[in-house]
Amino acid sequence: MEKPLQRFRELVRKIRAFADAEAVLYWDLRTGAPRKGAEARAETIGFLSSERFKLIASAEMGTLLAELEEPSVWEKLGELDRRQVKEARREHDRSVRIPPEKHREFVTLTSKAETVWEEAKRKADFGLLAPYLERIVAMTREFIGLWGHEGHPYNTLLDQYEPGMTVDVLDRVFGELKAETVPLVQRAAERSRQVRADFLELEYPADKQREFSLFMLREMGYDFEAGRLDETEHPFMITLGPGDARVTTRYKENDVWFALSSTIHEGGHALYEQNLAPELAGTLLYDGASMGMHESQSRFWEIFVGSSLPFWRRYFPELARLFPRQLAGVDAEGFYRAINRSRPSLIRIEADELTYNLHIIIRYELEKALVAGEIGVGELPALWNAKYGAYLGVVPAHDGEGVLQDVHWAGGSFGYFPTYTLGNMYAAQLMHALRRDMPDVDGRIERGELAPIRRWLTDRIHRYGKSRTPDELIREATGEPLNPRHLIEHLKAKFG
Ligand code: ZN
Repeated sequence: MEKPLQRFRELVRKIRAFADAEAVLYWDLRTGAPRKGAEARAETIGFLSSERFKLIASAEMGTLLAELEEPSVWEKLGELDRRQVKEARREHDRSVRIPPEKHREFVTLTSKAETVWEEAKRKADFGLLAPYLERIVAMTREFIGLWGHEGHPYNTLLDQYEPGMTVDVLDRVFGELKAETVPLVQRAAERSRQVRADFLELEYPADKQREFSLFMLREMGYDFEAGRLDETEHPFMITLGPGDARVTTRYKENDVWFALSSTIHEGGHALYEQNLAPELAGTLLYDGASMGMHESQSRFWEIFVGSSLPFWRRYFPELARLFPRQLAGVDAEGFYRAINRSRPSLIRIEADELTYNLHIIIRYELEKALVAGEIGVGELPALWNAKYGAYLGVVPAHDGEGVLQDVHWAGGSFGYFPTYTLGNMYAAQLMHALRRDMPDVDGRIERGELAPIRRWLTDRIHRYGKSRTPDELIREATGEPLNPRHLIEHLKAKFG
């Protein structure tokens, strides 16, 4: 038994090494690599990534998995190795069931479509992208047939990003969230119009914003010996290997909340990665449990800590010390109200906490219907506009600010959007459970005692990495399965 397990672990370490190398190259590309080297760099990253996928799909991996799954061998495996073998089996099957020429065709098609999408968005001309999208949807449906599915065909796509999640669960939790938040939207916007927020858009020098971002990360318990903070165009967090989880942010000089919220958000992702159990290093389990669970950690810090009144009672004076002129006449409560304004808008990435989920639910409903063959690509613009009108009360003037706003569909990513709202739901549910375990959580935040909160999350979520499913984690951390009520109650209390 020793032998296949040994060889399996070595193969996995090799796969991880490729992933780490890709991450270094990607981080460098996004944080200051010379522009003229970008094209060649992208090609190198693509080459390494296809080598990594070959290892996952390799005959060697197939043989090792079959040997390890032999009942006599399997029963002697420890729990972590079993989880790892299951994870490898999932990824291996997903790769080998698509013929290589189909896979190549899909990669070429989507990269072409992404280029066409830029032009279509600029010209607000859905007709340019439509033929590509039709082919992408057709191929996606073909892949689902090859992968197989239980229940709704969309389940297979969800499972890539959120293992175990199904349309049955999403229809129920998203339906409930939609029914309870749509009626809040107009009233919240009404009230937000009275809130003064002009001071957020004064000139805030980048060097001082950076100073505050560094301070914020230290307060959250981010370990600078296992990471660093850099600047980029679109903020992200990336893990380059055990002991190296990096945060990036962007300082907009006329929008102080952008960098603040981005840094706290990406910092929440980084705390997850920095606190994975060391024994998971070099395995396939050294990762977040799912996209939704990862997003729950970033949103927990960004929304439930970093956008709360107790937080700003503690930290507003520090911010005002750095920006005395810009924040003259503003207090913690005024700052809190300004950063929490809500108004329905057309663009997802600019949406506030209340309306964001409705942008996601619209995409989910359309993707699900496309994949099931219930609607055609040609119907998308009209359905999109009708849903925006019904849920948010706003209608795009053209497709550039409507159905063409996101690149995801041109890139062939279906099933990914729902993880954003799942992240918000998990985060609200975790906050509810934290309040039960730590009744003085608001007092602690107001005193800047964030370490016990970070430790609570590490104990219940971070350390397990991918060794538990999202469903197992949320049940054990909170005592119940995914429950949309916690997010709904939070949004009602804040915006109702
Ligand atoms: Zn995120």
